[in-house]
Amino acid sequence: MATPLTLLLVHAHPDDETIGTGGVMARYAAQGARVVCATCTGGEQGEIVVKDMDTPENHAKLGEIRADELKRALAALHPAIESRRLGYIDSGMMGTPENDLPGTFWQASLDEATQRLLEIVREVKPQVIVGYNDFGGYGHPDHIRAALIAKAAFEATAGEPDAPLKLYETAGGSRRREEVQKRAEERGVKSWWSGTDEETAEQKAEREAFMQKMADAQGPVTTTIDIAQWIPNKIAALREHVTQLPADGFFLALTQDDWRELMPGEEFTLKVSRTGVRLREDDLFAGLRH
Ligand SMILES: [Zn+2]
Repeated sequence: MATPLTLLLVHAHPDDETIGTGGVMARYAAQGARVVCATCTGGEQGEIVVKDMDTPENHAKLGEIRADELKRALAALHPAIESRRLGYIDSGMMGTPENDLPGTFWQASLDEATQRLLEIVREVKPQVIVGYNDFGGYGHPDHIRAALIAKAAFEATAGEPDAPLKLYETAGGSRRREEVQKRAEERGVKSWWSGTDEETAEQKAEREAFMQKMADAQGPVTTTIDIAQWIPNKIAALREHVTQLPADGFFLALTQDDWRELMPGEEFTLKVSRTGVRLREDDLFAGLRH
């Protein structure tokens, strides 16, 4: 029997899987593919966005809380989705003291981290791996690392039997950003990229330069996957990330109809292919179905 179609997604923290690729995970799992989510860190350094939960006790066990949130989010996407953890500690935002802590993903040896991911790749034998672009989408140290090891693990399998055949980067978010931003504002939420009324000219220039950097890092969208049918699963999974995604925050302020209208697809850049390249795909397994 042929190996089942298998998709491996390499994510930095709990919540990234749902925000970036929740729709494709739900869709492919529902269609019978094997879907495995590899999460590199535990998200231990993040903020707790729910005021009542933002206590020292909860910060001390944030890794556990987020492991549970991840589990429930994956189940909300589809019960058959499998989870693997690389076991690193979250490195905090770029330029913060957490970057230097031992055990963080940022401090880990790149070779060792790649080996951890390679073990998963060799176990799961995905035909398709999804990671991030070289800027990690938005410059977070753990996202940059996750992108690097996804690429390194893909390359390390060259010539192996059952080597993955396609490597994608997530490419979501930029094309309809202004429309999404406008809609979120109509729903009473300012997105982080809109800036604030109090920001200085210098802060504005800095924010715009950062956004330009994000846009420059993103490859062309080669592959758009229709996830309209799985938007309820994606929203349900977003809601499970209670400590990270506020109920009145950007992602959850948008309604199902907003998502269907403005973000009915998740977008990807086909970065490496060992099986030919097609322009404008609508399937991550394009060319791999027999
Ligand atoms: Zn993240």
